[in-house]
Amino acid sequence: MRARIPFLDLRAQYAELRDECDKAVHRVAESGWYLLGTELAAFEAAFATHVGAKHCIGVANGLDALYLSLRALGIGPGDEVIVPSNTYVASWLGITHAGATPVPVEPDPLTFNLDSDRIPHAITARTRAILPVHLYGQPADLDPILGIAAKHGLRVVDDAAQAHGARYRGRAIGAITDATAWSFYPTKNLGAWGDAGAVTTDDDQTADSLRVLRNYGSREKYVNDVIGYNSRMDELQAAILGAKLARLEEWNGRRSKLAEKYSTALADLPLQLPVVREWASPVWHLYVVRSVARDRLRGALAQRGVETIVHYPVAPHMQNAYSSLGFPPAQFPIARTLHEQVLSLPLGPHLSDADQQYVIESLHDTADSWTGTDGNE
Ligand SMILES: *Cc1c(COP(=O)(O)O)cnc(C)c1O
Repeated sequence: MRARIPFLDLRAQYAELRDECDKAVHRVAESGWYLLGTELAAFEAAFATHVGAKHCIGVANGLDALYLSLRALGIGPGDEVIVPSNTYVASWLGITHAGATPVPVEPDPLTFNLDSDRIPHAITARTRAILPVHLYGQPADLDPILGIAAKHGLRVVDDAAQAHGARYRGRAIGAITDATAWSFYPTKNLGAWGDAGAVTTDDDQTADSLRVLRNYGSREKYVNDVIGYNSRMDELQAAILGAKLARLEEWNGRRSKLAEKYSTALADLPLQLPVVREWASPVWHLYVVRSVARDRLRGALAQRGVETIVHYPVAPHMQNAYSSLGFPPAQFPIARTLHEQVLSLPLGPHLSDADQQYVIESLHDTADSWTGTDGNE
């Protein structure tokens, strides 16, 4: 059964942009050219301008954007990369696929982002890079991270898969670090009609490496300089993303309004609401609350037809995929607790005021059923 309030309504995005998207699809169909063409070049230029970066390199998806960035910066087997202990597993997989080893560092439990005070303790002779994630659309505190990186000669690659349009101390995320990795998975703030990703950077050499790596390691057809990949954003995705980019700021503005409303209307409930630092301009990819009774809260909302999602139920160090790293579950207690307590409320550019009001009322009306203590805390 379809929830009364869906978590995110992607059909509404198409309804709003039907003409532009249909035109884009036809343009690509008629062109007879489906990869590495004018649509990709146009989107790369537009997105680079949007985030204030010199270069944008379109790739197949966000995971590829991460490992190709690391490879372009020369990071590989034997190297360690510092990454948040609480993130989507793809942030870790990007490091693993580059051949390097993820070294988790715990987050600030209020902002959910990398706690830079903890980074120096994780640095070893093998550390080569730091990979902060702008989780849920909140910029990570980049200045201290860049300071530590400069002191130890490390690279910084940021995972901006959830942060299209976010700003840190007034600067757009996208050209602050050595390379910024983006995902355009359909549910992101800027989402394609399938998989797509990109890397933005100000550095000419990194950009050149990425263009070669994404296309079989070849600069000139049938001449292969390095062991490359096939990781290209296709023309159809580029055309759709170009049409949607024109709406990104407006849609992010709507997300901000909804987030503000949640934060005032839910302030009296026993929930930890998102904390925004004075230097942060988030884009509210997700509105994430924390509760010791998360599962009961989620169940109570589901009964009212309100769809919520847990981002993410299992910390990466506790996934079977990473059992070989040998981390005991108790090693990263902040990550573990967050993964047990976080809940994302419905939020998207097309959530109506009335539907949000229903979510807010549902939270208040059911509060007796999920407040207080029980065995799972
Ligand atoms: C979505 C996401 C990715 C991966 O992007 P894909 O395009 O799905 O490969 C990486 N990191 C984070 C934080 C994400 O949210």
